Amino acid sequence: MTDSNFKHILPVDDNGYYGHFGGSYVPEILHANVERLKETFYRYADDEEFNEEFRQLLHDYVGRPSPLYHARRLSEHHGAKIYLKREDLNHTGAHKINNAIGSVLLARRMGKKNIIAETGAGQHGVATATVCALAGLDCIVFMGATDVARQQPNVERMRMLGATVIPVQSGNKTLKDATNEAIRHWCCHPDSFYVIGSTVGPHPYPEMVARFQSVISEEIKQQLMEKEGRENPDYIVACVGGGSNAAGAFYHFIDRPEVKLVVAEAAGLGIDSGMTAATIKRGREGIIHGARTLVMQPPDGQIVEPYSISAGLDYPGIGPLHAFLAESGRSEVLAVTDSEALKAAIRLTRTEGIIPALESAHALGALDQLDLKPDDIVVVNLSGRGDKDMATYIQHI
Ligand SMILES: *Cc1c(COP(=O)(O)O)cnc(C)c1O
Repeated sequence: MTDSNFKHILPVDDNGYYGHFGGSYVPEILHANVERLKETFYRYADDEEFNEEFRQLLHDYVGRPSPLYHARRLSEHHGAKIYLKREDLNHTGAHKINNAIGSVLLARRMGKKNIIAETGAGQHGVATATVCALAGLDCIVFMGATDVARQQPNVERMRMLGATVIPVQSGNKTLKDATNEAIRHWCCHPDSFYVIGSTVGPHPYPEMVARFQSVISEEIKQQLMEKEGRENPDYIVACVGGGSNAAGAFYHFIDRPEVKLVVAEAAGLGIDSGMTAATIKRGREGIIHGARTLVMQPPDGQIVEPYSISAGLDYPGIGPLHAFLAESGRSEVLAVTDSEALKAAIRLTRTEGIIPALESAHALGALDQLDLKPDDIVVVNLSGRGDKDMATYIQHI
């Protein structure tokens, strides 16, 4: 199985550094917790029984493998052969469930009974609440009050699943603030297990989440081999909030230089508008939520409030893996504005009959900025479905 050598694929050292990004910057009170998580993760990462249970749930409960779909009419529009990796068809509607399952299985092995999570658009909260219902564990989800208002259907889903949703009133009342509050709660309740929703946070989270999501690229390889007789596409395109769907889609291609890795970050109203979430283009090195990475901050070191039409990309940091891939030139970073993403969402809907999540629409919007040739094989990671975004779409269309 390809994932048995996962440690050698990610450009990460024993202390969780990707180049000079990453590491673990946590308050003293959480130090022992993070260490124990690290030990547990490494112990089970290659454990056959753990992986068997994980694989079985991905197959029977999530519905994996997710299809790799040749989007013919979209291909015609862009003048290249475009495949969509259909993470939108997963149970609960996005890639988040892959990581939620892996993390909760680890929590169970650690004997944890209380799960906490942060959420932006609500997809990670729903995925975590879902797996907690499945595993019979208590679940508390922290969510910015702004997001509680703009993602109401997901709030109702979490509550129906038995989770407690706590609206966070600080800052911009979005994802950053929800994460702050989850970390604060974790400090007071160190026996909780914190399920982080992206490749962010202190080591080992970025590596662990990337590894749980790596099933995406593992499947892409097999599916492309079946459809095209080759494992490697010319491009893989994914949107980045914290970077987990992109990390999963890139994972098994990181060491294949012939595969171009393209990340689409949310430009909001434009990268120079002051209303943006384009962290890689606009960020400077700093520390956020336990890791050294690129952060949007003014010279005094405060965090700039990010902005994107998409609640899942509205984050002022970026996972350390992506900071490293971008800085080293391994990935290409494209900024996609709100209106470009909306246009791409409508295009996919009208050409293929698929309504994408607003986050995924940023990846689709990036296709317009690539210089594609007719023979190019492009895989776009369609990270989620658009149901949760209907209110926003209706407002703008
Ligand atoms: C959460 C989310 C994202 C952004 O998170 P990443 O960790 O960057 O993948 C993207 N797409 C969808 C559908 C999401 O729910």
